[in-house]
Amino acid sequence: MAAQDSVDHKYVYDFAEGNKELKDLLGGKGANLAEMTNLGLPVPPGFTITTEACKAYLATGREPDGLAGQIEAHLESLERGMGRKLGDPQDPLLVSVRSGAKFSMPGMMETVLNVGLNDRSVVGLSAQAGGNDRFAWDSYRRLIQMFGKTVCEVPGEEFEHALDDAKRAKGTKNDLDLDADDLRGLVDAYKKIFAKHTGREFPQEPREQLDLAIRAVFESWNAERAVVYRRQERIPADLGTAVNVVAMVFGNLGSDSGTGVAFTRDPGSGAQGIYGDYLANAQGEDVVAGIRNTVPLQELERIDKKSYDELLGYMARLEEHYKDLCDIEFTIERGKLWMLQTRVGKRTAAAAFVIAGQLVDEGLIDLDEALHRVNGAQLAQLMFPRFKLDHEFEPVAKGIGASPGAASGKVVFTSARAVELAAEGESVILVRRETNPDDLNGMIAAKGILTSRGGKTSHAAVVARGMGKTCVSGADELDVNVPAKKFTVAGQTVNEGDIVSIDGTTGKVYLGQVPVMPSEVVQYFEGSLEPEHVDNALVRAVHRIMTHADAKRRLAVRTNADTGADAARARRFGAEGIGLCRTEHMFLGDRRELVERLILARTDDDRESALFALLPLQRADFMEIFREMDGLPVTVRLIDPPLHEFLPPLEQLAVNVAVAQERGEDVAKEEALLAAVRRMHEENPMLGLRGVRLGLVIPGLFAMQVRAIAEAAVAVTRDGAVAKPEIMVPLVGAVQELETVRAEAEKIIAEVVADSGVEVLIGTMIEVPRAALTAGQIAEAAQFFSFGTNDLTQMGWGFSRDDVEGAFFWRYLELGIFGISPFESIDREGVGRLVRIAAEEGRAARPELKLGVCGEHGGDPDSVHFFHEVGLDYVSCSPFRVPVARLEAGRAVVETDGSDSR
Ligand code: ADP
Ligand code: MG
Ligand code: MG
Repeated sequence: MAAQDSVDHKYVYDFAEGNKELKDLLGGKGANLAEMTNLGLPVPPGFTITTEACKAYLATGREPDGLAGQIEAHLESLERGMGRKLGDPQDPLLVSVRSGAKFSMPGMMETVLNVGLNDRSVVGLSAQAGGNDRFAWDSYRRLIQMFGKTVCEVPGEEFEHALDDAKRAKGTKNDLDLDADDLRGLVDAYKKIFAKHTGREFPQEPREQLDLAIRAVFESWNAERAVVYRRQERIPADLGTAVNVVAMVFGNLGSDSGTGVAFTRDPGSGAQGIYGDYLANAQGEDVVAGIRNTVPLQELERIDKKSYDELLGYMARLEEHYKDLCDIEFTIERGKLWMLQTRVGKRTAAAAFVIAGQLVDEGLIDLDEALHRVNGAQLAQLMFPRFKLDHEFEPVAKGIGASPGAASGKVVFTSARAVELAAEGESVILVRRETNPDDLNGMIAAKGILTSRGGKTSHAAVVARGMGKTCVSGADELDVNVPAKKFTVAGQTVNEGDIVSIDGTTGKVYLGQVPVMPSEVVQYFEGSLEPEHVDNALVRAVHRIMTHADAKRRLAVRTNADTGADAARARRFGAEGIGLCRTEHMFLGDRRELVERLILARTDDDRESALFALLPLQRADFMEIFREMDGLPVTVRLIDPPLHEFLPPLEQLAVNVAVAQERGEDVAKEEALLAAVRRMHEENPMLGLRGVRLGLVIPGLFAMQVRAIAEAAVAVTRDGAVAKPEIMVPLVGAVQELETVRAEAEKIIAEVVADSGVEVLIGTMIEVPRAALTAGQIAEAAQFFSFGTNDLTQMGWGFSRDDVEGAFFWRYLELGIFGISPFESIDREGVGRLVRIAAEEGRAARPELKLGVCGEHGGDPDSVHFFHEVGLDYVSCSPFRVPVARLEAGRAVVETDGSDSR
């Protein structure tokens, strides 16, 4: 019986019952609190309500049966252990109610501190703290503020304004100057705000506070900004969050108390050392909110050496235990250190590589694990350009390099404006005093984020690092005035729309557009930095991990390149051939005229002479590419787009004809072109006369291209290079199409190649669903398949990319119909299934069939893993993605083949 089951179901775990492997159930925070508890670290006691309880609540809108009783039982045991009762008027136990999902979502979910305080227990709390009224009332006003804001949706500014008013009345800017009476007054003001917005008094019943807070955490899973963050980070929407109920410890008891955050290594560069911020006489959220300026963690040694040494000891323990960079939240209550959170810390792309390398050196992990710890998205970030600085550019301010990269753009001051301008294709820099979770959309839209407050662990810094977005935080020379849409710095005023440049590595801020140069990692790939001779931890780590990836991977990586220059660059980046050389650009520019002649040809002779003129031009193009790719395969795709793409647009031609007629000029050619464009007009050009269809309809077109390829290969071979051409026929849906093209091509090849030793393969794209479904037949006529996953996605889903991405993808993403655009990452179940079927049936018919992919998916990390699993021979992607694909192909082996050492 369902009801019986849920009564028996365990929804609540004491910290002593959990461990770090239980993240699915207990969330990251709960699992790690349990792990620290069991390691013997000083964690305040508490319990975790599982993600399953949250999911049940969200599904039905009420707490599942049995949950209330289990919370009661765990609360009682917590009260027994602490020797205090929740909200007791004489000697209250207070708790925090903290969200914690499987994946850390900084600032996304809600936390309420000091639950259990009310008009009576505030007096008891003061007594507990030796008559410290100030502390008690400060804690109470914090509860009303956090509870109001996060549980009851009271606008947070109202509380902040009331706090500002109190400070102003006192003539101070520092909240520490408010005394007990001021804070008591503030509590009254807060209660009024609360009542005004909720239509009820602030709840005095401790258990009601607790239950409402737990419920609010459950519901915050579906808060808009949490949904946006998950979508951005590709975190599944159905995990739910756990809730942690933790006995309060107090960092706001005086100058011998405080709270802080720490990293076991620098999350920016990966360098070893002590990184963190500390704030005396404060509660946790003050540190990350940037409310007062924090001091570097090192200063804690001077303030409280005993706690400092103890903390360093725990940090070393945690690193050793997690075998990774940890980030830590702690509080000191009157000289006693408490550990409030740890997790494997977020880090920049550079730090990820450097730390993985260090951990191998330290013997904590092996190279497979190091490969697993980095990813292609991080590598792609390291390939972003950097500022090229000469004396022309002087920084106007220097903040903290919170998330590396070089970004220039127009200044905006609000999230909404950032989204607006970015949608118009502008690069924007979001400038704020400090960011908060409501700025998330703007942060996503911006190229970079600049704040005047906050440290390495501020909201802006943490979120930007997670997104891989350039961020400078705490540039306190900036005087930011959001309502007036301007900031001033070094005596200058910068308005919305002015351009600034920010360097997230050095923290420097420049006015105007600073030019950029290739990053060190790109210089290394290009061969201008030798890792052995470079005193650069990052380049050495990248080299080492890439070498391991190359040794591990089974997928070859080719590139999409249409010119010799692209081919050469891709080869330096490690491309092992060309997977897609498009030939359409060879019909553009000054060759348009020949193409027009071809299209307008009235007789066989006209047409043949146009083709004959194109032949040497194409041959020269191919020779250049074959030379650059000496010894490596080059897949050339015969012409694919509809021919009218090579003609001027209809409207323009119509105008030309009219104007020429007006002037009495000869309009015969214009008129002929216009007629041709009208005749060739298609309702659905994507599904019209293109690809192989064109080759079958226009005599001699494919033949000319095949001849150019074969002749180029022979010519290059004669010069001593090795050409390995592979001719690829686009848009095949039936084996008969391919057979017809192939019969003609083979004749030409045999004649041209003769005894030159050149071997030319003939294969096909698989991009029409029918081709995938009849792959067994098609393989009889094809020596290779190359999956054109862009078209396969368009035709598999039945939507045209150019039309749909702007029209309705946002809604599909919102509804979760797909988690990410299927053009960005392959849709494994649908389009991927077509790939799988074609690969299997193709190989069954012809075991030596070569299989590759040449759509943009070839450079997408997740898709590369899929192609590895399906057993393709290679992926092909744009030159800049080649290193990313190499890395991910290596990671796919360590991850899917079970040699993962974790
Ligand atoms: P987040 O997920 O945003 O980091 P947390 O649940 O960690 O939120 O809470 C924010 C801060 O509140 C913590 O960094 C910690 O300093 C403080 N905090 C949470 N629980 C307690 C507690 N039981 N005692 C004292 N401070 C706490
Ligand atoms: Mg925290
Ligand atoms: Mg295509």
